[in-house]
Amino acid sequence: MKPKLVFATNNLHKLNEVSAILVDSVELLNLKDIGCETDIPETGTTLEENALIKAEYIYKTYGLDCFADDTGLEIEVLNNAPGVYSARYAGEGKNSEDNMQKVLLEMKNTENRKARFRTVIALIRKGEKQLFEGIVNGEITGNKAGTNGFGYDPVFVPEGYIKTFAELSTEIKNSISHRAIAVQRLCKFLLEK
Ligand code: IMP
Repeated sequence: MKPKLVFATNNLHKLNEVSAILVDSVELLNLKDIGCETDIPETGTTLEENALIKAEYIYKTYGLDCFADDTGLEIEVLNNAPGVYSARYAGEGKNSEDNMQKVLLEMKNTENRKARFRTVIALIRKGEKQLFEGIVNGEITGNKAGTNGFGYDPVFVPEGYIKTFAELSTEIKNSISHRAIAVQRLCKFLLEK
């Protein structure tokens, strides 16, 4: 029997992406599966802190092995902003459209378009904590393009591609994304232990 592991999210995009990678190694449960309806506050000042806050909340409240992720879009010319504040960049409404417009406006006429997505996963298993990181480098476009995916996908072109994450197929995004890299590292760790 596969061990149970909670992924502290209800974001369907993330769940699909992560389930595909972990399907053979664990029985993945989400927040709804364990009856958790709390919007766990992300009060940390780094991705690492926020991922740990979410994982620790689940571990302490439900006593279940779990992992949580936190992702930031880090733009070189903006000193790595929005970073840990990516979800709330344009305000507490956490509106992706507003967030993208703010980024595009701030980068108007900016030559250096370099950016990266960085995901940190915090795993708590049998009380032990472990962090995994995944990074994908790329560039911010001048305009939005594409309708797949979520968040900042329409304004981010990964290195080696000419299309945004939102124009690429889900299969391609999920094979090269920041989150996929972090989850593959998590998967390797789970299989080794
Ligand atoms: P969180 O990890 O769900 O807290 O995400 C922080 C912010 O980054 C939110 O605005 C998300 O929409 C955005 N984000 C997270 N992962 C991705 C991704 O894979 N593509 C585009 N945006 C993302």
